[in-house]
Amino acid sequence: MFEKILIANRGEIALRVLRACKELGIATVAVHSTADEHAMHVRLADESVCIGPPPVRDSYLNIPALLAACEITGADAVHPGYGFLSENARFAEILAEHGLHFIGPKPEHIRLMGDKIEAKRTAKRLGIPVVPGSDGAIVSDAAAYAIARNMGYPVLVKASAGGGGRGMKVARTEGDLPTALATARAESMAAFGDDTLYMEKYLVAPRHIEFQILGDGHGNAIHLGERDCSLQRRHQKLLEEGPSPALNVEQREALGETVAHAMRSLKYLSAGTIEFLYENGEFYFIEMNTRIQVEHPVTEMITDFDLVLEQIRVADGARLTIEQKDVSFHGHAIECRINAENPVSFRPSPGKIVHYHVPGGMGVRMDSAVYQGYTISPFYDSLLGKLIVHGKSRTECLMRLRRALDEFVVDGVDTTLPLFRALVRDKDILDGTYHIHWLEQFLARSSVEE
Ligand code: ADP
Repeated sequence: MFEKILIANRGEIALRVLRACKELGIATVAVHSTADEHAMHVRLADESVCIGPPPVRDSYLNIPALLAACEITGADAVHPGYGFLSENARFAEILAEHGLHFIGPKPEHIRLMGDKIEAKRTAKRLGIPVVPGSDGAIVSDAAAYAIARNMGYPVLVKASAGGGGRGMKVARTEGDLPTALATARAESMAAFGDDTLYMEKYLVAPRHIEFQILGDGHGNAIHLGERDCSLQRRHQKLLEEGPSPALNVEQREALGETVAHAMRSLKYLSAGTIEFLYENGEFYFIEMNTRIQVEHPVTEMITDFDLVLEQIRVADGARLTIEQKDVSFHGHAIECRINAENPVSFRPSPGKIVHYHVPGGMGVRMDSAVYQGYTISPFYDSLLGKLIVHGKSRTECLMRLRRALDEFVVDGVDTTLPLFRALVRDKDILDGTYHIHWLEQFLARSSVEE
């Protein structure tokens, strides 16, 4: 087993990884920018190294500084968390070249799934249903017109290198297509340095349902059920729940087995998520994320299984500690991503937290790295923490979430807590009848109090 792990991240996920390391008796190294000198992950780690100034390209994305930090501290493995270098295949290779372990998938799988066109092709080959669309990249505008006409409008133009909803544009009619192509191309070039596009049928009111998988690289892989992440704003998830209110046991077992089988044939290593859109009883693969995800605690709460701990174990060559038959699902879990943002305008609200009280009690988990007196920096994303609530049933979970949100106090910065308090009282949320566009429609019609 590894003796010392360097955590190449910050915020709540750095703390999440640190907790798993401590429970395994592994020493920890935190890295931080000068802006994060007083961060909780730095305080709680056994050692810490400053890796640069606040901008992420100079610190959290600074590979030479991270290698130096490994060298200085004698770390033998690196956990990248999510975001930053977590899906950077070259980083994984560089670590290997320096005799260090990357706690994540094999570089070839990161690369394969990072190219969404290749990912879709692979999914199709492995028997996973995909969204109808262009067969590979769009080679010219003329080809795009032909494909769209053939498929029927509306269509979605997407960036092959895409992520975080960038480089994605809808064309509702043929008249929209030139602008959709041009803006998607420009956005993708600016964000990813690559303007390869592809096209999909735009599904009008699907749900976003994703399967958690875990593999050991030796050909063993399991699925841990699904999460419903349909509550999104600008393609960004705000609230996730598991199991999905839309699926039944047979659907879960059938698609779960399809994805686990696909991962076995790839000999996939580490945690991953296979994302689908779900509409009218049909599933359509959209992409795979080759990392631990923000919403992984939802799965941990309903399976009672520590995904990060197992990620660490298998990265060292160990076999999975459980088989598919050992995975069972208990009750219901919901996660709210609480951001330091204005709940109406969603403008980030950096600043000092002057008063902070987190909810507790049965079935309540708070994954956060902030504390009273902490100053939220303007340099990084605005995630203040994740409130995850578990209950024996979806109803119990919702009632518990309601009371947990009511207990939560954050003074000094704006937060999205008022939005969640309104959501857990909405009939469609209570009924579980929402889709990926529901939240934007809710925001347009509701009046959340600031
Ligand atoms: P990214 O990697 O940029 O997050 P994804 O392919 O995962 O992109 O899609 C993000 C979100 O965009 C989905 O959760 C869904 O809301 C929406 N989306 C993606 N593909 C389609 C589609 N074909 N039709 C309708 N909505 C889509």
